[in-house]
Amino acid sequence: MDMQDQAIRRVAEAIMESGSVCVLTGAGISTESGIPDFRSPGTGIWERVDPMEALSTAVLYNNPRKFYSTGFEIIMSMQDARPNRAHHVLARFEKEGLIDAVITQNIDNLHHRAGSEKVLEVHGDTRTGYCIKCGKRVSIRLLADKVGSGQIPPVCEECGGILRPGVVLFGDMLPDCFNEAWDLVKRCDLLLVIGSSLNVGPVNNLASLCRRLMIVNIGVTPYDGLAEIIIRDKAGQVLDSLQRAIEERSAR
Ligand code: NAD
Repeated sequence: MDMQDQAIRRVAEAIMESGSVCVLTGAGISTESGIPDFRSPGTGIWERVDPMEALSTAVLYNNPRKFYSTGFEIIMSMQDARPNRAHHVLARFEKEGLIDAVITQNIDNLHHRAGSEKVLEVHGDTRTGYCIKCGKRVSIRLLADKVGSGQIPPVCEECGGILRPGVVLFGDMLPDCFNEAWDLVKRCDLLLVIGSSLNVGPVNNLASLCRRLMIVNIGVTPYDGLAEIIIRDKAGQVLDSLQRAIEERSAR
């Protein structure tokens, strides 16, 4: 058995012996679904545009034309993606009672599509938009149709306020579910981070809150020093092996 197999077995054991397990996912879990992450060398979105600008409230409110030709394009490019093995394994772990919740920084809807039910989308979602004046929620399709027909910024049909996507942009506050994520992670026995560079705050702080930390991520993270186990490989493959390791252990 090589070092990686041993590490996967240890993660399997930790999941099975823990009373409560949370998973924190980032853009890296969805690269195998064809969605580029921010920071991977060569393929990350950062190579083409600066997401801190394209996906910022400053650009949304001060230069909506630029927002709708850059940031909004990134948001809409995720609409047809399909979950991969890693998303499916996590949905199955939840059904089997092995994990309590998936906290995700992703906005691509892939945990929901894979069947996960307890998903805390701490950076919002790309299914909906809302009016910044009256708060009415609309589908992202309605927003896209308005933008497609030249209405920039798109306008609320109820009150005439400005509609915006339901994604948390740089400059936005985090939604209430972040407080729930904080409480869950504080109380859990194990946090498994999958596919996140842990560079984006305040979500990365969750990695220093938990009792035990384990990481599945190709690149290094600033929290590696706190992790009991780090597996530097592709999420799909690792979670597949993790599921098998758990099945073997339960069959014993
Ligand atoms: P990030 O781009 O900063 O980091 C992604 C990490 O995943 C990198 O360290 C990379 O080495 C690793 N990685 C890439 N492919 C992997 C794979 N197949 N298996 C395992 N690891 C892999 O992403 P982040 O930490 O999530 O922070 C970026 C921010 O941008 C977040 O807010 C995120 O929501 C957002 N974002 C979301 C999406 C999405 O919804 N799919 C895509 C891009 C960016």
